[in-house]
Amino acid sequence: MPVKNPDQLFDKILIANRGEIALRVQRACREMGIKTVVVHSEADRDAKYVRLADESVCIGPAASAQSYLNIPAIIAAAEVTDAQAIHPGYGFLSENADFAEKVERSGFVFIGPRPDTIRLMGDKVSAKAAMVKAGVPCVPGAEGSLPDDPKEVVRLARVTGYPVIIKAAGGGGGRGMRVVHTEAALPSAVALTRSEAQAAFGNPTLYMEKFLTTPRHIEIQVLADEYKNAVYLFERDCSMQRRHQKIIEEAPAPGIPIRALTRIGERCADACRKIGYRGVGTFEFLYQDDEFFFIEMNTRVQVEHPVTELITGIDIVQEQIRVAAGQKLRFRQRDIVRRGHAIECRINAEDPYSFVPSPGRITSYHAPGGPGIRVDSHIYHNYFVPPYYDSMIGKVIAYGDTREQAIARMRVALSEMIVEGIKTNIPLHQELLLDDKFLRGGTSIHFLEERLAKRKLAG
Ligand code: ADP
Repeated sequence: MPVKNPDQLFDKILIANRGEIALRVQRACREMGIKTVVVHSEADRDAKYVRLADESVCIGPAASAQSYLNIPAIIAAAEVTDAQAIHPGYGFLSENADFAEKVERSGFVFIGPRPDTIRLMGDKVSAKAAMVKAGVPCVPGAEGSLPDDPKEVVRLARVTGYPVIIKAAGGGGGRGMRVVHTEAALPSAVALTRSEAQAAFGNPTLYMEKFLTTPRHIEIQVLADEYKNAVYLFERDCSMQRRHQKIIEEAPAPGIPIRALTRIGERCADACRKIGYRGVGTFEFLYQDDEFFFIEMNTRVQVEHPVTELITGIDIVQEQIRVAAGQKLRFRQRDIVRRGHAIECRINAEDPYSFVPSPGRITSYHAPGGPGIRVDSHIYHNYFVPPYYDSMIGKVIAYGDTREQAIARMRVALSEMIVEGIKTNIPLHQELLLDDKFLRGGTSIHFLEERLAKRKLAG
């Protein structure tokens, strides 16, 4: 018997995603007494969340362009199953304003911000302008988009000061940017980035920022309802990255004064009120020399949301569903307290040294457990990791009273964890969890790549 829906929320939500986030959203729904419809590709037919769903609809072949990105098929699935709302997860269509618009025009609720907000924040030039206006500090650089006139670009770079970074307004996923150290290299770098931006994002618009040499990546989680109530759920430090992809995240950010964090958190919540933001979101900042510089906003739930859930006790996905259903935020800023420390390791199906993806059948699986350990993963014994999608197969999140305890618990958890038949990056995490600099905390976004380069030399 399904639990009776006590909150007058949705009766049925369609989950337009796959992997661990599909399972995560499904768990939130089931706990709230909401039925789930899962759409899936032919390659994901045997997924755990497909079996656990009240209904499932196969929307196409393995290739995501024909399944997880197939807007008409997803909307048709919502129609035939009578779902009331669509949860986009992260990646795929989660930040696609046209999708959000079509969902709403078809009479469903899009579990996310309004389409015009997604559009505003999806274009990095307009996002930055909106943030400057809302009083959020941004990376210094030329205002607005880069002009076509090469002489004017040279002038702007001189004013900004080298090194500069040329970025695509429509960029994402760490693509569409180029660092320039000298004036001689500028014209060709701009031309190359422009043609790449056109090819990859269908938008040749570029902008220029000062390139920060040793920043940390610090982001602020926000939550807002449609009545202009907004709160921040503190920060996450996601500086451990390879090729701009995060692999370890933690909260609180080690070593940053609480007053500075409170100030930036308040600015973000205030910006949400000013732009009429609705839903969950993340303001991403680079942090260097005790200053925060906004780089972009993600208008969706993030992979690393569990670390915030563990230190605040707030279920971010459930609150996201509540505000999408038109409910008011259930707490004010002063009701939110943080306690302890949480750290997340992303587990990828890949070679821990060459980073070559390692899809295939999992011949043996043992998940870790014990106090303070949370595992968000859709994998199971005999699960086949398909080669068509992102290589992340799950996340281990450790919580402790202190950073030291969270790290110690993570070490124990990873030593217990068994994933056989495919390669994973667990050995890399184990190495990093013993690294002196990481243990001290506060490493920059370049730390991991520099360390990997040394490993290559030594090996
Ligand atoms: P994406 O949407 O592709 O993730 P971002 O604007 O968030 O693009 O930038 C991704 C990463 O690129 C950042 O986390 C940081 O590592 C690097 N980066 C971006 N802008 C700068 C900058 N001005 N200075 C130094 N590094 C930068």
